Amino acid sequence: MRIVQKYGGTSVGSIERIEAVADRVAKACNAGHQCVVVVSAMGHTTDELVRLARAIDSVPDSREMDALLSTGEQVSAALLAMALQKRGLSGRSFTGWQAGIVTEQVHGSARIEDVKTEALRSSLAAGEVPVVTGFQGISGETVTTLGRGGSDTTAVAVAAALHADLCEIYTDVDGVYTTDPRVVAGARKLERISYDEMLEMANLGAQVLHPRAVENAKLFEVSLVVRSSFSDEEGTLVVESAGYEQHRVVTGIAFEREVARIAVLGIPREQHGLAKVFGYLAERGVNVDVIVQSLVQAETVDVSFTVKEEDTARTLRVLDELRSQLSYQEIVAEQGLAKVSIVGAGMISNPGVAARMFSVLAEGEISIKMVSTSEIKVSCIVDSQELDRAVQQLHEAFLAEAPEKGVTSKEVSVTHSYL
Ligand code: ADP
Ligand code: ASP
Ligand code: MG
Repeated sequence: MRIVQKYGGTSVGSIERIEAVADRVAKACNAGHQCVVVVSAMGHTTDELVRLARAIDSVPDSREMDALLSTGEQVSAALLAMALQKRGLSGRSFTGWQAGIVTEQVHGSARIEDVKTEALRSSLAAGEVPVVTGFQGISGETVTTLGRGGSDTTAVAVAAALHADLCEIYTDVDGVYTTDPRVVAGARKLERISYDEMLEMANLGAQVLHPRAVENAKLFEVSLVVRSSFSDEEGTLVVESAGYEQHRVVTGIAFEREVARIAVLGIPREQHGLAKVFGYLAERGVNVDVIVQSLVQAETVDVSFTVKEEDTARTLRVLDELRSQLSYQEIVAEQGLAKVSIVGAGMISNPGVAARMFSVLAEGEISIKMVSTSEIKVSCIVDSQELDRAVQQLHEAFLAEAPEKGVTSKEVSVTHSYL
């Protein structure tokens, strides 16, 4: 089999951990598999690099920021290549550009446009074990990064481009759980989850996989497994599954901290006000999430929307620039909020899930500030101090009991048992 293995920050957080990863890679290679490894930066290296940059300038130059952040992965890739060499394998590190990862010309969140596989293919043909830096690529002559958590996306893109049989995401939990096991001790590991549900979970804040990794895995039909680099437990398969999710209405609970709500009050109705507000914010790269519009009076419109808390000041600045064009009456900003979401493909055919979510939160005296729904999720904005309790109570209400299994364990173990 050709396998892409990706190891996250905690998994390569120290020399001991890198040695353990090298052992795991060696085991797969010695079992006759062709391996390509993708690594994240060691531990909290990327956070530390961000801190250094901000100590110089609160809004550092984006080109230099990418030049800086991409160094973290280069350290771990080179160290892992050395550790593989010590084990008699021809480990060889590749930076993003050396591995042919071509991105769009955007700094901080570039999308991969192409993976030119020549270098990796000749490395594999020469019997080497390529170790690729995650989270980075090249646009023209400039180094770009894919966005925080983006090494997962590198791994999936490399797996797709090389037509790998399997892409394994090794992390510090042994799979995808019904919710973050750090918040709910009784969270259960899922044997499998569909691409669509995983994408929704990831987009709604479940950090365990980068949303674009899931998007690409679905698009290129990459077999994806999330598992632990600290144990040999079977992980979670992310699959194009039909059927299984019908056995559970809610598959998981995701959440996002540090959300802010901005209300723009009294926008005159005739002026295409909403289009202007959101068009202007989009042009300036402000990502807007939940939007609620209410008609208060015939002449004016009120709208409120959420952004990441760190974007509050920038959003207010943009809206201020717009004041003369829009003649709205008032802007109100509220920080310290969070978003909790229930996700499940089974919701499509099960009405009343949203109502149940609202009553669970009401029973817990957790007030809901905004709501947003899609076919397979319901999200509520709540006070961030109440977030953990909201997640725990929703988990208790929707996920405390394991659903009946719609898939045989044999099917699952086929993919897991290659070692
Ligand atoms: P890595 O550095 O390996 O990429 P991350 O920190 O990005 O690891 O992702 C793993 C973390 O994701 C876990 O430690 C866990 O706290 C968090 N997490 C959030 N939601 C979930 C979930 N539903 N299932 C498993 N882990 C989750
Ligand atoms: N090192 C990067 C980050 O911390 C990328 C990754 O870990 O996936 O965001
Ligand atoms: Mg991650």
